Amino acid sequence: MSKQLEFWGGRGRVEVNRFVDTCPVCHFAGTFEEHAARHDEADKRLQIVYSCKRQECVSFFIATYRRDWMCRTTEYELTSLQPWAPEAPPIAEKVAAMSTRYAEILKQAAFAENLGLDEVAGGGYRKALEVLVKDFVLTRDDLDGEQRARIPKMFLGQCLKEEWIPDDMIRDFGERAAWLGNDEAHYEREWLGMDLGNLKELLQLTEAAINTHLRRHDYTSAMPKK
Ligand SMILES: [Zn+2]
Repeated sequence: MSKQLEFWGGRGRVEVNRFVDTCPVCHFAGTFEEHAARHDEADKRLQIVYSCKRQECVSFFIATYRRDWMCRTTEYELTSLQPWAPEAPPIAEKVAAMSTRYAEILKQAAFAENLGLDEVAGGGYRKALEVLVKDFVLTRDDLDGEQRARIPKMFLGQCLKEEWIPDDMIRDFGERAAWLGNDEAHYEREWLGMDLGNLKELLQLTEAAINTHLRRHDYTSAMPKK
């Protein structure tokens, strides 16, 4: 449903599909202060300079609205918010502490995806998976020096064997994420019905299973038996 957007301090007004309700820099919801606006009827474009009132942010940004060039509607559509900063994907605290590198690669892959770089984002998620799995295996306290040196060099598929990861839930999700991750890195896709969304979901499920495993270990160590 259209909304009335006022600008020039209330002197200008158009119908829009939506208001700006989230800062594109800090991603917090709020209301924003208007500093300047430019409305070009011929170009069917409205640009408004806002600032975020949040203390930690106080960034300026430009909202651009455009209207259908055929004038089939009177409504302006919000088409861009610039500058835009990538939002780090949520990550379980325990997992982030276990592998800061995984957290960083995941953030970069999400950044690439948000920029529309869908041909390379998948490769980033695939790398995030490998680092997640290997850093998890390296948390085992029963590994000898030779094993510790070998794990980083192993193929991901080998690391996902029962010998290294006895938890079958982690293996079930991790193996499937690895299969789809390979599709993102190669010329042809093997899993035709699956896409980047499935890879991301399987990566999240692998992360969640690892988090559950680590939390379980924390609680059973702290409270071994009654
Ligand atoms: Zn902000």
